[in-house]
Order: sequence, then structure tokens, then C-alpha cells
Amino acid sequence: MYLFMPTLVYSEKDCVKNHFREIALIGEKAMIVTGKHSSRKNGSLDDVSAVLNQENISYIIFDDIEENPSVETVMRARELAVSENVDFIIGIGGGSPLDAAKAIALMAANPEANEEVLYQSNALPYLPIICIPTTCGTGSEVTPYSILTLHKQKTKKSISHKIFPTLALLDTKYLKTANRSCIVNTSVDALAHLIESYLNTNSNSLNRIYSEQGLRMWAEFKDNLKNDTLYEKDYERMLHTSMVAGIAITHTGTSLPHGLSYAVTYELGVPHGKAVGMFLGGYVDNYKDKNEAGKVLELLGFSNAKEMRCYLNELLGKTELSPELLSANADSILANEGKLKNYPFKITKEELINMPN
Ligand code: NAP
Ligand code: ZN
Repeated sequence: MYLFMPTLVYSEKDCVKNHFREIALIGEKAMIVTGKHSSRKNGSLDDVSAVLNQENISYIIFDDIEENPSVETVMRARELAVSENVDFIIGIGGGSPLDAAKAIALMAANPEANEEVLYQSNALPYLPIICIPTTCGTGSEVTPYSILTLHKQKTKKSISHKIFPTLALLDTKYLKTANRSCIVNTSVDALAHLIESYLNTNSNSLNRIYSEQGLRMWAEFKDNLKNDTLYEKDYERMLHTSMVAGIAITHTGTSLPHGLSYAVTYELGVPHGKAVGMFLGGYVDNYKDKNEAGKVLELLGFSNAKEMRCYLNELLGKTELSPELLSANADSILANEGKLKNYPFKITKEELINMPN
């Protein structure tokens, strides 16, 4: 058993402004990696720019990160990072810009390498990264993972490298501009990380300190999330739960709901958290160790798996999946050792097809 969490995390009001010294110590020229709109609206880009200006650190902005970022976008940003000689990366936004920031940091530190190295497992250096999350789901600010869209393979896939951010700065004020569907979908992603980490081949009594505590925290805002009555303390819990869930999957990886979700997102454009949430009720309900599944339900405050399935269906709404998609998805999971290894039991095609809530 081991624990490893190398990212320095601060969480507080005006976090970016307060930690200008730590930011300034990381490098001399930054590339800010962000999405097209949200970081301008929620104030995070202004806060970061103000600190960099104040500290006389030059920077460029790459604000062209799409949802479910692609390898092509990462390579475009790498070209700019190299030509501008940046020596650190600041990711601002949801999981998409944060994941892209990690892959760009890797490619920029290896300017001669082509995109194939993203999916090769030789150790390579990467530029230091600061992450500022503005959604409450992926925990990417503390995980070593970067999931990219591979158009050539018509799916999404985690790159082979483990890339930990140096610094994560959490401030609930950025989260508050997110609309309901963004909050719901990303909170369900955090829930999936907690459940898939707890019910996982790699879980143990030591690393479950994160998933157990995260599940307790999720239970504290679950009613307010469903009723759309969120208070300051809920935003804080959601942001912290997402981060703790990220630490949980750092130790265990995710499991079948994440594996099943990628094709749903690629084929139907369903947002990541919603796509994962579709399989979550079924995952817990059919989990073969009933004691462990029961513990998850108890920590979340559900009396049984049916109640959890209903909660998720009400929260996310139903998305119909065609029998063809379900069948192809099950075949692809069954053919992929990497995706099956975190699930501790044998699973049949029929069980996979019947997993949606
Ligand atoms: P996202 O794809 O980063 O963002 C979704 C949408 O929300 C975008 O339109 C974005 O706008 C907007 N948005 C972000 N923050 C906002 C805010 N504060 N207010 C208003 N709108 C806001 O969503 P995500 O669910 O956080 O990330 C999903 C990605 O993370 C997927 O690619 C998934 O595979 C990956 N992921 C990574 C990990 C990991 O460990 N690394 C774990 C789970 C999932 P803009 O485009 O304008 O910014
Ligand atoms: Zn996820």
C-alpha cells in the first residue's frame, strides 16, 4: 500500500491573488491554457493575468481548448509554446483545459517528439503546471491523468504519462458562474470517481480514506444538488469533493462506468459526467461484493441501489442508448485488458449491456 499526492493545493477565497509568490516561483514565461469563454466570464483569467503582470512574468494565452480536447489541439498549442519559449503552463477551466495543459506541458518539454509519444510509456520530462479548476468534477488539478480525444480511433483515451500539476488553486467564486447542467454533470463525475475508486481492484484500507471521506462529503450536498438550492457551503463541498475524488482515482484508477462512457461521449456528444453517470447505478447494483456496494450506498445515504438509480435518473434525465452502441461498447471493453483490470470480478457482455441506470 502507498499514498502519493505531490500537488500543493490551496483552497480559499481569492486564492490566486493570495498565492502570487508561489506562482511567481514556478517560471519566467507562462502559457495560459483555457477554454473559449468561461474563464473570461468567471474572473479566473483576469485574476491570473493580474498576478502575472504584477510579478512581471510574461505570458501568452491559448484559449482554444474544446470540450474533450483532441490530440490535434494539444499539438497546435505545443507549437506555440515552443516558438514562444514558455517554461511553465497554467491550466484554467474544467477538466478539458486542465487535461490539455498536462499534455501540452509534456509535448512542449520534448519539442522534437511527435504525437505518438503521448501513448508510449517511456518516461519523459514535462514543464511545471499550475491548475485552477472552475468545475467540480474531474479533480484533474490533482490527478496525473490527461484524457484526450483520438479522432483516428473515434474515442477518448488517457495518455500513457503520469503528469502531476505542481500547484492547484481552488476558489469557489469561479464555480458559481457555472450553469445547472455543468454543476450537475461534473458533480456526478466526482461521484463516479469516488464509487469507481472504492469498488476497484486497486482499493485498499489506506487509499479508501479518500473515497470514503469523499462519499460522505457528496452525501452532504446531494439533496441540495437535486433541489437546485445550493449555498456557499455546498459549492465549497463540491469543489473539495471533486479534488478528494481526484486523489482517490490517482491511487486506484477508474473502472467500468468510465470505460463505458467514452464511446457515448464520442458518438453522441454526451458530456463526460452525464455519460459516466448513466452507468453508475447499474455498477453499484450489480457489483458482486454486496457488502462493499452496501457500504457505498450507506456512505451516500441511500437505502438501496434502486433509490440511487432513481436519484441519478431524476438528476441527469434519461438518454436512450441504441442496442448497437451498447453491444459495440461492451465488445470493446471486453477486448481491452486495460479497461477490465480495475474491475475485480468476471463480467459478461450481457451484464455490460444492462449496466445503464
Ligand atoms: P469541460 O469540458 O472542461 O467544460 C465543459 C463546459 O463547461 C465548457 O463549455 C466550459 O466552457 C464550461 N465551463 C467550465 N467552467 C465553467 C464555469 N465556471 N462557469 C461556466 N461554464 C464553465 O468539463 P469537465 O466536465 O470539467 O471536464 C471534462 C473533461 O475532463 C473530459 O475530457 C474528461 O474526460 C476529463 N476528465 C479528466 C479526469 C482527470 O483525472 N484528468 C477525470 C475525469 C474527467 P469553456 O470551454 O468556455 O471553458
Ligand atoms: Zn471522470
